[in-house]
Amino acid sequence: MKLSKLASDIAESPTFALNEEARLLRERGEAVINLGIGEPKNKTPIAAILASGAKLTSGEVKYTPPDGLPSMKKAVIRYTEENYDRLVAPENVIITNGAKQSLFNIFYSVLNPQDEVIVIAPYWVSYPEMIKMCLAVPVVVTPEDGTFTPRFEDIARAVTSSTRAIIVNSPNNPSGAVYPPELIEKIAEMCERKGIFMICDDIYHKLTFDGNVAPPAYSFTKKTVDSSHVIVVNGVAKLYGMTGFRIGWVVAPRELVKVMTNVTAQTTSCVSPIAQAAAEGALNGRQSVVEALRLQIQNNRDVVLQEMKTFVGARLIKPQGTFYALPDLRAFNGNSVELSKLLLKKALVVTVPGREFGMEGHIRISFAGSVKDITEGIARIKWVLDPTSPNDIYIGDKKLTRDWM
Ligand code: PMP
Repeated sequence: MKLSKLASDIAESPTFALNEEARLLRERGEAVINLGIGEPKNKTPIAAILASGAKLTSGEVKYTPPDGLPSMKKAVIRYTEENYDRLVAPENVIITNGAKQSLFNIFYSVLNPQDEVIVIAPYWVSYPEMIKMCLAVPVVVTPEDGTFTPRFEDIARAVTSSTRAIIVNSPNNPSGAVYPPELIEKIAEMCERKGIFMICDDIYHKLTFDGNVAPPAYSFTKKTVDSSHVIVVNGVAKLYGMTGFRIGWVVAPRELVKVMTNVTAQTTSCVSPIAQAAAEGALNGRQSVVEALRLQIQNNRDVVLQEMKTFVGARLIKPQGTFYALPDLRAFNGNSVELSKLLLKKALVVTVPGREFGMEGHIRISFAGSVKDITEGIARIKWVLDPTSPNDIYIGDKKLTRDWM
């Protein structure tokens, strides 16, 4: 069968693939622990349920404008004013099927073939694939060994006449790093000066710990939203744990939003009004749910730190945000794919190999789930790799003895 080379070359999403593997194992009755996917366990906020329920029972479930329902845009405008200190116009906002579609649509709308996009490692798996889908070239900047924060000089050095955009994701998936304000400021200043788009994937911007804040790039530019090269991506998936509603949005210059709207109109038409109503409900509802989720995740992060303390050989940079930790396990095996496979085979723990994020020798552990899963999952990882950990372990109702060291 002859298929598109471009499409066939796109890598499978490792997190979804691993999720499916975990699901199949669980279906077979195996005591699998999934530390792979980043999905909080909370229930949908009641305000979202009521708003989407009302939309559904109205029976008025039709196409919406391709850039989103005016009322949903209004909720985003308010959110932007409250959190970014910018009053934007409806023409600066587009609602999308998740932040994922926001990002793809942005790349598609700003990139020409062979254009370059600077991607900072460790990076979210989908960025390079999306960039390649637009026939453009991801240029990876990797921080110095032992840190997940890039040096501005390295980013500046990667800029060429073909650089169209830099994607900045802080708090960062997969490392949990929150970039310092000075770095955001320098990137914003350079992007504005050189006319490079600074795409801020702010999907985790409220999920920070220990008083850390992720400063918005808008606070470092005096330009109006329409003349600025800053683009903001956000959504309800991580903010409210509403991953299944598939609602994201973009705040950008209206010239870009117009192009993105045409792309949406010709591909997916619009986002389901039921999902938009849910997101609107969440944005207009009580915001204490966000803080409750943040506190729960911060507690989970503390559990990870506690459990990792006794993991001899693993090096972990403390996550300052998100629900991911990216321990360095090079002391055991430099090949993270082999490591993840070993952990699944021996201990039924799902992790994501760091190689997928441009950080070989590391594995990503999600701590979005339950404390029980985190504690037990890390104990199992230690049992597989760390000879100083106890020799016997219970996995489900089976007692297993380590016999490979
Ligand atoms: N950006 C980052 C960094 C993410 O981690 C994710 C979700 N894992 C997304 C974007 C996509 O979010 P959504 O579910 O809204 O498409």
